[in-house]
Amino acid sequence: MKFINCLLDVLSPSFCSFCGRMISYESSGVCANCINKLLPYEKCEESSVAADYKRIYYDRIYSLWKYNRYSRILVSEFKNKNNLSISEKPSKHIARIIKEECLVIDTITCIPILRSKLRKRGYNQAEYLAKKVSNSCGIPYFETMKIQNLGSEQKLLDYNERFLNTIGKFILKENVSGKSIALIDDVMTTGATINEASRILKNGGAVNISVFTMAKVEPFVYESV
Ligand SMILES: [Zn+2]
Repeated sequence: MKFINCLLDVLSPSFCSFCGRMISYESSGVCANCINKLLPYEKCEESSVAADYKRIYYDRIYSLWKYNRYSRILVSEFKNKNNLSISEKPSKHIARIIKEECLVIDTITCIPILRSKLRKRGYNQAEYLAKKVSNSCGIPYFETMKIQNLGSEQKLLDYNERFLNTIGKFILKENVSGKSIALIDDVMTTGATINEASRILKNGGAVNISVFTMAKVEPFVYESV
């Protein structure tokens, strides 16, 4: 893997997403000088995440960074610009959290995206990250859900509408009964999508869901991003 990364550095050099300095593939899109612009997001208790009165179906969430203007750039480059090197460090970091927190995980999965988006983008960034985590920690990856094209685009909706809009979007396609699951996505905004996916997994018999995202919007600022 190291050799491949070195080869990538020669054939297709990487640059810092913030200052433009040339960096190695393994730097995950950020140079050593700019790394401090990514602020760590501490582990959140489930009650602090989605709104007060809504039932939360996942058991815990770990996000690596606060969603600020810097992590937003990184997530966008990872998601829309095919800059897959950005997932190098985050995937290892998530694998490390699973180990250090002694989380018992049977299956790693991700939030699916619509077929139309997959065609346009060429990849599902959450799937790419989830598979890298799977490679790092040796826990198998499964595509547990598919998504249906129902409702509106989440980004066009307000907080409460987002929760309603996600209901029924996911369909289970893998037996998850009795499984402890790591559910991976690139960023958590309101938590509506992740919560609905967690609901489907729990309804399918999953016993425990740990969510991992690269970045997470703080609840009180999400409307401005
Ligand atoms: Zn930099």
